[in-house]
Amino acid sequence: MHQALDPAIREALAARIRFYRDLGLTEFYQRPVDPEWLAELRAEAQENDDAQNASQAEIVVEEKDTIPPRNSIPTPPPLAAAAETKDRTAALRIIREDIGDCTRCALHKGRNKLVFADGSPDARLMFVGEGPGADEDAQGLPFVGRAGQLLDNMISAMGLKREEVYIANVVKCRPPNNRTPEPDEANTCSPFLFRQIDVVKPEVLVALGATAATYLLGQRQPLAGLRGRVHSFRGLKLIVTYHPAFLLRDPRQKKETWNDLKMVMRYLGMSVPQRGAEGG
Ligand code: URA
Repeated sequence: MHQALDPAIREALAARIRFYRDLGLTEFYQRPVDPEWLAELRAEAQENDDAQNASQAEIVVEEKDTIPPRNSIPTPPPLAAAAETKDRTAALRIIREDIGDCTRCALHKGRNKLVFADGSPDARLMFVGEGPGADEDAQGLPFVGRAGQLLDNMISAMGLKREEVYIANVVKCRPPNNRTPEPDEANTCSPFLFRQIDVVKPEVLVALGATAATYLLGQRQPLAGLRGRVHSFRGLKLIVTYHPAFLLRDPRQKKETWNDLKMVMRYLGMSVPQRGAEGG
């Protein structure tokens, strides 16, 4: 049976599907439909058809007597289909291309440079911050301002180089006046972060501060209750610690942060230096 679809609805659906495709969702499944509801819908559509000009675009609605039960629906693919590729650099490039010259949320309006990530696509350790500040927005790289210098110190105190880890943020454009990203901004942008994580697949993921912890864990909780233990993000070990910008304001928490980083090092099988970032 053919059913006319309003061109405006058709364009809205197409835009929605393009958005899902940008997020890496490429497969869609038809939910079971109540046959009575479908019959009503068709009767209504028939009335509309009669009343309308027949030149409108058409879609085909397949008639099926039996609707497959829910449990026959195949498991959706992982969020990042690109994660299947062995070439992480290429997979990350695809994500960057999908983001494009993004205008999906209001943050794009104040952006100079979109901040995708920095570091090694093969990293065993990944840091996730909140969002770019002024320096990051100017350079297009995460954690290159004062907070970034402290993060670099934390990384080198662990005996690592910045180029050996992977660094990204919950949002890729600078929030005005460095405010916390709004939930709609973070929810729009974070699927790209999740795809980056799926590709890099670090052994340990470190959430820097409450915003990263909130969007990786999917729940808002005080940082104090999240630190000091290992969480799971899509099967990866996730450790929560203070944001370096917070440590600049309250350096007394550096010792606690160093304890968190020592836990990270133990999970990575690294030997833990006796003295670390407390003083840095
Ligand atoms: N703060 C963040 O959360 N991310 C950056 O990239 C820089 C500062």
